Amino acid sequence: MKKILMIPGPVEYDAPVLSAMSMPTKAHTDINFINTFREALEHTSKIFGSASGFPFIISGSGTLGMETSVANFIRKGDKVLVVSTGYFGDRYKDLLSLFTDRVDVYQPPLGQAADPSIIKEKVENGSYSLVTVTHVDTSTGVRNDIRTIASSFPDTDTLLVADGVCSIGGEEFSMDWGVDVAFTASQKALGTPPGLTVGAIGDKAVQRMEKVPALSFFSDLRKWRKVFDAMLQSKPAYFGTPNVNLIYALKSSLESINNEGIAKRTKRHEVVASAFRGALDELGLKLIAEKSFANTLSVPYLPEGVKLPSFLSAAERFGAVFAGGLIADIKDRYFRIGHMGSVGQSEVMISIGAIERSLKKNGYDVKLGSGLGKAQEIMQDADFAYNSQ
Ligand code: PMP
Repeated sequence: MKKILMIPGPVEYDAPVLSAMSMPTKAHTDINFINTFREALEHTSKIFGSASGFPFIISGSGTLGMETSVANFIRKGDKVLVVSTGYFGDRYKDLLSLFTDRVDVYQPPLGQAADPSIIKEKVENGSYSLVTVTHVDTSTGVRNDIRTIASSFPDTDTLLVADGVCSIGGEEFSMDWGVDVAFTASQKALGTPPGLTVGAIGDKAVQRMEKVPALSFFSDLRKWRKVFDAMLQSKPAYFGTPNVNLIYALKSSLESINNEGIAKRTKRHEVVASAFRGALDELGLKLIAEKSFANTLSVPYLPEGVKLPSFLSAAERFGAVFAGGLIADIKDRYFRIGHMGSVGQSEVMISIGAIERSLKKNGYDVKLGSGLGKAQEIMQDADFAYNSQ
């Protein structure tokens, strides 16, 4: 029986994307590949809303994106601020500690988004070289208001780095808001199997990059930029061998994102997320996020008495694979539902059905169909015309 992958990345991928992976591999100097890379870069700029600066696509996972986003823009010992709303915010603390002892952390209480006015105050008074904010922290499902946060940066020397790994392609986002560095990973809302980090660098960050030395070798954007610039002019260039087949897959997916249109796509994610939240609420499951919910995933606590491993394995038997928790103290008390990429009404119905049945199997008193009914009500008039197949 087919089961669907509903973890927060990797996700289910469309058939044209998967078939691009299995074509015979071309030379990275082949003009057909170069033009595909060029188109993928052009689509990236559009999806990131970046009119200037440059886009990047590098082989590696989202963690390489995190490293790239800081190791090119600070000097050793610089003062930096990490805004942490979960596990991936905390990862920035560990990463930046390799380069500097002066890492300040602003951590709102669990489940709450960062307060933009607190960040504004810190940016005005903290002499930070750079601030990192995780747009959606995948461990909590909390979404930060990057747009408002970004409005505090333009008149300062501080760079704003946005980790968009669990947001870009599914949530509203634009570099034009005043974000200096942003990136994601292929496996989430960009709808391409794992293996690429994809991002954009704005003008202010380009200027910084030209003044400071790189703190790592493989993620040195000064070297990669020459490759991207050449590719954008349909010319070959080399720094490290690109992941040829994945770039064909990425181009296919990015093209379908831009064909659907970012506004329509984020709206679709919003409707799917509302259906999940409505159904979970109907079933009596409380989310970790208190108000600022992500549209790319939902993160509910399990009811008292329901054990995570047996909940997850029964849900899988009922047709949907979900993920367990990541926050150390509570990781066995909650689970995570990824709903990004080409998700729509079928994924909602299969997932909610599996959640209801697994809860019941695990002794929780649930009326089968109650969550499904709520999800159907929410999706009843939504436009799900998108069909990539
Ligand atoms: N940041 C966020 C917000 C993430 O969700 C993840 C992965 N789940 C990462 C960074 C790290 O990405 P990867 O696992 O692809 O290295």
